[in-house]
Amino acid sequence: MEKILEVKDLHVTFTTYGGTVQAVRGVDFHLNKGETLAIVGESGCGKSVTSNAIMGLIPNPPGKISGGKILFKGKDLTKLQEKKMRSIRGVDISMIFQDPMTALNPTLTIGTQLMEGLKQHRKVSDKEAKKRALEMMDLVGIPNPEERMKQYPHQFSGGMRQRIVIAIALICEPELLIADEPTTALDVTIQAQILELFEKIQEVTGVSIILITHDLGVVAKIADRIAVMYAGKIIETGTKREIFYKPQHPYTRGLLNSVPRLDAKGKLKPIDGTPPDLFSPPKGCPFTARCPMAMEVCNKIYPGSTTLSDSHSVDCWLQDERAKQLLATMVTN
Ligand code: SF4
Repeated sequence: MEKILEVKDLHVTFTTYGGTVQAVRGVDFHLNKGETLAIVGESGCGKSVTSNAIMGLIPNPPGKISGGKILFKGKDLTKLQEKKMRSIRGVDISMIFQDPMTALNPTLTIGTQLMEGLKQHRKVSDKEAKKRALEMMDLVGIPNPEERMKQYPHQFSGGMRQRIVIAIALICEPELLIADEPTTALDVTIQAQILELFEKIQEVTGVSIILITHDLGVVAKIADRIAVMYAGKIIETGTKREIFYKPQHPYTRGLLNSVPRLDAKGKLKPIDGTPPDLFSPPKGCPFTARCPMAMEVCNKIYPGSTTLSDSHSVDCWLQDERAKQLLATMVTN
């Protein structure tokens, strides 16, 4: 399968008066053409910083990509000047932000905002831009597009605004779409409609999608593969089936146990404790303090990545052969 994006050993830091925050600490993943990869984790795990790094949106200072590569179709985005990055952003790679209420300019009509990127990057005529804007509004399911183009954001509901934001992101036909918590600010029924819209868009345009979310329910609907992030690292990655049915990292299991399910009996099981301080992240596994399976080695040495299948890998000492043998003896005794 053709890889459209490869992130290799990415490190992002932020320098503050209090010290240096190591927000992303050696992240590796790839995205195949036409697939949806979900990056899942709790607030502060580094998932949005990773997506901002891909977009070239890390403010420097205080932020800095301090190591690694971001290869988009083989080209390292970390090496590009801002001018070149601006010609890629919104054209080849687009991003949808969390809150549709603030993503749109309240003083400009929807039509102006839709056509802006197209006119700037594709240099098309007003007539062509309008035709394309109407097509996009139709694709994202806005009724009466001619009329609606003349209106302002406050005349749209939250769900409709998010549809407009998606249309703006797609109007230049990007090959990669990054959606950062695209349904978090919406109510549940609208969330479902927006997720269906993503599926439809991918079918029609073939765009590759990175979906950033803390919500495993969202992931279950549209992701092909899932990368679970914790304390600035990807700690488990696999297909949707592997992550939902054969999770191997105790944190992934904890996340799954804390999702409300209609068929579940008893109370929800939250993950006790809080993530580590990324001003001085632990040397060993960052989940040690919260992990019910933690061993002595966990706190001292970071576990290497264990490959479980072509698509499934996990960073956890429990997968080390020595730990497996020890656990097996404990069970037999
Ligand atoms: Fe738990 Fe150790 Fe695995 Fe970390 S490496 S998740 S502390 S068992």
